[in-house]
Amino acid sequence: MSIRSAEIICVGTELLMGSTLNTNCRFLAQELVDLGIPSYHQVVVGDNHDRLAEQIRESAARADLLILTGGLGPTTDDITMSVAAEVAGRELVFDQDSFDAITEYFRRLFRNMPKNNRKQAMLPEGATILKNNNGTAPGAMFEYACPTEEDPDRVVYFVLLPGPPSEMSLMFKEEVRPILEKMSDAKLESKYVHLFGIGESDAAERISDLIDAQTNPTIAPYASEGECMFRITQRIEKGEEEKDLITPIIDIMKERFGQCIYEIGDRPLKKVAFDMLLEKKKTVCFAESCTAGMVSSSFVDIPGASQVFMGSVVTYGNQVKTNLLGVSDDVLENLGAVSRECAQEMAEGARKLLGTDIAVSITGIAGPTGESAAKPVGLVYLAITDENGTEVKEVHLSGNRSRVRHVAVLHAFNLIRMRLS
Ligand code: AMP
Ligand code: MG
Repeated sequence: MSIRSAEIICVGTELLMGSTLNTNCRFLAQELVDLGIPSYHQVVVGDNHDRLAEQIRESAARADLLILTGGLGPTTDDITMSVAAEVAGRELVFDQDSFDAITEYFRRLFRNMPKNNRKQAMLPEGATILKNNNGTAPGAMFEYACPTEEDPDRVVYFVLLPGPPSEMSLMFKEEVRPILEKMSDAKLESKYVHLFGIGESDAAERISDLIDAQTNPTIAPYASEGECMFRITQRIEKGEEEKDLITPIIDIMKERFGQCIYEIGDRPLKKVAFDMLLEKKKTVCFAESCTAGMVSSSFVDIPGASQVFMGSVVTYGNQVKTNLLGVSDDVLENLGAVSRECAQEMAEGARKLLGTDIAVSITGIAGPTGESAAKPVGLVYLAITDENGTEVKEVHLSGNRSRVRHVAVLHAFNLIRMRLS
């Protein structure tokens, strides 16, 4: 049987109250997209017997698959398993294997198992038990006969997953996804095209003919701070695995966006810059004013950053720019710290001080104070220098202090990418 649509039901009063961010819903929604199963409704419901039962019945009337998360814990407010079993007309029965797994979980942590954890081994009769390799609560998958006039044999599949995100996601990947893949007669394949240096609406306009004509593959734009991305997704029916509809679209995008495309895949901008530095065997350092270490900190998120990253200087005050990097008094007094010339002297000074192949500097006005008519908030100068000379880039960034600094960081990585490509 193939699943035409799914609904996600997240159970927990803490979600309704906003004290926990509903990240499970996002994860499951993305997985369903990936599996090619549409979800038309996603719901949050509190730990309340009547409202949960009502929601399950309502969703089961609409969708072929219900994925529920949360409320599988050992305490009395964890009722999802019993309510879902009740709606499906199944008794809860003791499952020895699950009980043994829970006992073993506590034994490995040298902890005594509280009595109420036994409740987590009470599972709907005839259910497929989903192992929890990250915690105690097992999940369950079972069918609910939900006949309609047109389809008297209609069944709805219930999948119950624990609430803690690490348990939920692992159980979904290991136990549920393989079952759903078998039930589906098509799969979806996606490629991601990442762009920098072009706004989302501008980018979407340049390929509006492709977006308007889309059926298969579909093209979806995504914008995040300072960057944008297109997801291109092809639906592949069984037996049509050879057909590649994505590459021709990417070829057109390459033609239209040129250098703005920094990645086709899933590497972030800094990883692209890192890989280029590594490949060309170049070392780098940063001289940071308005970003005050953010570029360096972000860069060392990459494992192995030490192979190319030597160090940085945070030169926030003018005196430090002069003392450490040799920025001239003349530049600071007459042109200011946020100027082309200052960026250039910062980069060149840092390269000399730290002895790297490449140095990148960042100086700008992050706001909200400190602007003037000639130098508005969001004005940032970046410089990159290496054996071939120095290049300075002036950018005007929008948004608040945090956004200006964040996007300035991306520009620093982009300068490296442009210089090395
Ligand atoms: P539960 O399975 O209801 O006992 O949930 C245990 C914990 O998992 C909760 O206290 C939350 O911290 C977390 N949790 C539950 N549901 C979600 C959700 N939809 N998204 C993110 N975290 C969740
Ligand atoms: Mg809960």
